[in-house]
Amino acid sequence: MAEETVEQAVGHAHPVQLGADDALDFRCDCSRDCFTDCCRDVSIILTPYDVLRMKRALRIDSGTFLDRYAILSCTRDKKLPVVLLRMNAGDKRCPFVTQGGCSIYAHRPWACRMYPLGQAQPDHPTPTERGHYFLMREEFCHGHGQGKGTRTVREWIREQGIDTFEMMGASFERLMLNESWQKQEPLSPDKLAMYLMACFDLDRFRRFVFETRFLELFDVHEDRAEALKTNDEELLEFAMDWLRFSLFQEKTMRLKANAAEAKRRTPAGEAAAAGH
Ligand code: SF4
Ligand code: SF4
Repeated sequence: MAEETVEQAVGHAHPVQLGADDALDFRCDCSRDCFTDCCRDVSIILTPYDVLRMKRALRIDSGTFLDRYAILSCTRDKKLPVVLLRMNAGDKRCPFVTQGGCSIYAHRPWACRMYPLGQAQPDHPTPTERGHYFLMREEFCHGHGQGKGTRTVREWIREQGIDTFEMMGASFERLMLNESWQKQEPLSPDKLAMYLMACFDLDRFRRFVFETRFLELFDVHEDRAEALKTNDEELLEFAMDWLRFSLFQEKTMRLKANAAEAKRRTPAGEAAAAGH
């Protein structure tokens, strides 16, 4: 993954705040003169579930996806790592856009489904203080002012298949809303690598679970362990539990008795149990 700051990457829109039951005065289809103009020079923040769906659509592993199509960035306070979809170097178009539209449409990321809607987070988000929707009006987009009364924000979200992405993104959101991010220093290089692997490089995370001493140290029910071998969605949920345990010491994982004893006795045992 290449790197840039999120301030360099994210452009400026003119947001209008909306509620879920507000009318969305917008229409988009392939007859527009602006068709696919929104797929150029755009900052698309990827969630772990976006990466899962896109690598599956492309039939490549997660590491290859990240190498080819991702840029590593971070939030303004430098505490939260962010993964962005990499635009083509020359024409700055999305690597998946074609004359006929998005070549991975059924698997396009959350942000593409939402557009022209965005979802703003409060300055200090918590599980109870959620963000609001906003409408981005950008000059290149000619879909505004042509769909009044046809649908609400809530209906748009359902039509675009966003519900599935929100459901699959809930564990990641819970991880990102953890108050500990605000309190602690930016992640150390080791922890950053662990975070990126567990969130975005699921195929490597699977090898970490099955090809190291991980299952000797952690008590994972055999049915769950079996599912983790082939089911990416299960693995992603498990990865979020693992990160909450290892980054924030939440009780989302249980050490086996011998590993817990080693953790009590020595710092080295603790490091081993945490997977460092
Ligand atoms: S992923 Fe598809 S919808 Fe999103 S920017 Fe690329 S081509 Fe456009
Ligand atoms: S109307 Fe807006 S969202 Fe639709 S194709 Fe045109 S620029 Fe993209």
